[in-house]
Amino acid sequence: MEPIYFDNNATTRPLVEVVEAMRPFFEEAYANPSSVHQFGQSVKHAVECAREKVAALIHAKPREIIFTSSGTESINLTIRGALAMMPAKRRLVTTAVEHAAVMKTAETLACEGYEVVYVGVDGDGRVDEEAWQEALTDDTALVSIQHANNETGVMMDVKHLAEIAQARGVAVHVDAVQTVGKVEVDVSNWPVQFVSFSAHKFHGPKGAGGLYIRRRTRLKPLLLGGSQEHELRAGTENTAAIVGMGVAAEHSSATMVQTAERVGGLRDQLERALIAEVSNATINGIGAQRIYNTSNISFEGLEAEAILILLSELGIYASSGAACSSGSLQPSHVLEAMGITEKYAHGAIRFSLSRFNTEGEVASVVERLPGLLARLSKLGSR
Ligand code: PLP
Repeated sequence: MEPIYFDNNATTRPLVEVVEAMRPFFEEAYANPSSVHQFGQSVKHAVECAREKVAALIHAKPREIIFTSSGTESINLTIRGALAMMPAKRRLVTTAVEHAAVMKTAETLACEGYEVVYVGVDGDGRVDEEAWQEALTDDTALVSIQHANNETGVMMDVKHLAEIAQARGVAVHVDAVQTVGKVEVDVSNWPVQFVSFSAHKFHGPKGAGGLYIRRRTRLKPLLLGGSQEHELRAGTENTAAIVGMGVAAEHSSATMVQTAERVGGLRDQLERALIAEVSNATINGIGAQRIYNTSNISFEGLEAEAILILLSELGIYASSGAACSSGSLQPSHVLEAMGITEKYAHGAIRFSLSRFNTEGEVASVVERLPGLLARLSKLGSR
């Protein structure tokens, strides 16, 4: 039986069209796009076509897009690069539920003397708006906020939170790694300066990230060297990955609405059935707006790792937000920030779907998971 891949927030399967479009750039189209000869210029043309497609996906201008290696790089570049342009301001505001790419950058900046504020969330993972308002002082250089949480799928009201920041004259970065390519992101309608995203989350290749930088916004580069990407990201371009990202972006633009409807239906079906079949299950973030492909379900009193191992033996690949540290499972910082108690947080499983998933796969999980959980309960997995 084919494995069932429900771990699409970790990464997605590249589209066949993406792989095919990339192939020539590993083979005959290997020139450096910075070379002035025709061969180089033809590759440069392919990179610029990809930039147009990526820009169109988020309603930006091609000049406002730079290519990086990953969402992580875009995030690091923005946070460090934006703060470096405003040396007089020493405060960074973010939330308690960000991805490690933001969290670790913020922690390091705190060690370097910046004041970092992590605004808390409510029980459904929504930012505390009052605390957000209060956190924005005259000394605040930048706020960094995610669009959708990678663990729970909870979506932030980015436009509204950015408007509050804008009113205080604070620059805004959005980590939209889990939303660009999956839901409509329209940067022309957001009062933000920076948006990070990543191709491998929307059926593009790994090793291709993007960063939207609003016109006339200044940023200090992290990597120094050649003058690629408007001198903001030195280094010969990953041409194949960039071309692949362009194709994935074009495909997402064309199919996003239908995909959201179909995949959202599958996710809802999965949740309804599991909640009906399993007595001790709760959906994390259920009261908030969530991205359509993600479901984070806690199975009370069970250990996520044990569930994931047994699921994996059945060829069902899901994930958890927990990180293994010194032999003991630490509950996810996201669930912790939402105030979810340990007996629920330890048993949280993330199912993240994509356009490649089917009704049959959902049915198969619904058929097998309750029995597996009942066996674990009997064994007293915790
Ligand atoms: N931000 C969020 C919300 C993510 O989910 C991820 C990846 O899981 C990242 C940032 C990092 O992206 P990348 O894997 O492209 O470095």
